[in-house]
Amino acid sequence: MTLPKVLFNKSSLSLRGITRLLSSVANPSIETKFSGGHCFELTDEQKEYQALARKFTHEEIIPVASHHDKTGEYPHKLVEKAWKLGLMNHSIPQKYGGAGLGIFDSCLITEEIAYGCTGIQNILTANSLGEAPVILAGNEEQKKKYLTRMTEEPLVCACCVTEPTAGSDVAGIKTKAEKKGDKWILNGQKMWITNGGKANWYFVLARSNPDPKCPTSKAFTSFIVDANSPGVSFGPKEWNMGQRASDTRSVTFEDVEVPKENVLIGEGAGFKIAMGAFDMSRASVAADAVGLAQRAFIESTKYSLERKTFGSLIAEHQAIQFMLAEMAIGIETARLAWMRAAWEIDQGRRNTYWASIAKALASDVANKCATDAVQIFGGNGFNSEYPVEKLMRDAKIFQIYEGTSQIQRLIICKEHLMKAKHTMM
Ligand SMILES: Cc1cc2nc3c(=O)[nH]c(=O)nc-3n(C[C@H](O)[C@H](O)[C@H](O)COP(=O)(O)OP(=O)(O)OC[C@H]3O[C@@H](n4cnc5c(N)ncnc54)[C@H](O)[C@@H]3O)c2cc1C
Repeated sequence: MTLPKVLFNKSSLSLRGITRLLSSVANPSIETKFSGGHCFELTDEQKEYQALARKFTHEEIIPVASHHDKTGEYPHKLVEKAWKLGLMNHSIPQKYGGAGLGIFDSCLITEEIAYGCTGIQNILTANSLGEAPVILAGNEEQKKKYLTRMTEEPLVCACCVTEPTAGSDVAGIKTKAEKKGDKWILNGQKMWITNGGKANWYFVLARSNPDPKCPTSKAFTSFIVDANSPGVSFGPKEWNMGQRASDTRSVTFEDVEVPKENVLIGEGAGFKIAMGAFDMSRASVAADAVGLAQRAFIESTKYSLERKTFGSLIAEHQAIQFMLAEMAIGIETARLAWMRAAWEIDQGRRNTYWASIAKALASDVANKCATDAVQIFGGNGFNSEYPVEKLMRDAKIFQIYEGTSQIQRLIICKEHLMKAKHTMM
């Protein structure tokens, strides 16, 4: 079977050709030869992960999400169940007991779980964020010790980069790392650390070269720190606007001794490791935001097919239809964006540009969808007995953590201009 000629040859755009093309589209049994390139079909295995995560979300997460939002209670049992089903730590290589999934497959799971509750998904995402630098830059001993542990027990870890005085400006962090013989001594405070009070170990970025003239690429070192090390303490759980199931705290390091074996790669390699980890995690945060947007879309669709005003279903009013259509446009494009970002890194390519596009777009889409969902629900949307006000509160953080929406735009343009200078000048 050859490709319909009409795709290649304008002169063959006859009625017969068009009819044949249309019938091949309408009837998939007529074979069509694809040229390669883009494929939008998931493999059977990917569909299985997706179905498992979807089932877990509907049976386990949705029934309790509101409780954890209202009480802020940490969902220990859910984390344990997710761990047992392999719905967390999926990127840990098989050698260390994980599923060894690529970022794309991991994002498929993330989107499904985020549909149920992004606060709960955030606990799982923070694990991946803590593990990413070890997967990326850990040596064999470090991987064996810290990654295997995560697959043997339902533990969580955390990524400690942000500080009270430095978030967007990562190079402005002040936590100090000083070398003393065979050990490093850490002093400083981290802020807004997800899983901060629950982690078994932390990935910590600290300044190891005090010289202000030292280039950023050499001034920082990254460490794996056991949470039970003397001198590690954490503050109370922060009561945030949304994603309240998640545990966010400050973490303080006071004369904490870290053995040199726990340095990732070596002195001065920290900044690059942290940035590399963000490239891995931003696609996942985008998938997380798409999961929330999809929930807002489905809840709005169901409600608009039940609620009547002026004698008709609100779904029949064009103003509501336009909001639903905008949601669909946003979700479909943001989903393609995380897929591209995840696919790029799975190909072993630097995906910084794509990851920032996906994160910035999906965050805005999640916020727009959640806000419009509240609008579609009217007064009910503003009330916590209905699911959409939680979505609106949960969505906001997507424009802030893992690099704010402004920082994503700076990264996108920096990457764009760098490429332009190479190709156009
Ligand atoms: C719930 C929650 C969970 C988090 N989890 C973690 C975690 O697990 N680990 C971790 O390390 N961090 C975590 N963070 C921290 C998060 O990544 C930071 O809050 C975020 O990077 C922003 O930093 P900031 O809060 O210091 O804001 P700032 O950097 O002070 O920014 C303030 C405002 O200025 C804008 N801005 C800053 N610089 C520029 C610029 N050059 N151009 C234009 N605009 C600019 C920002 O976009 C923002 O709007 C978490 C935060 C929250 C709230």
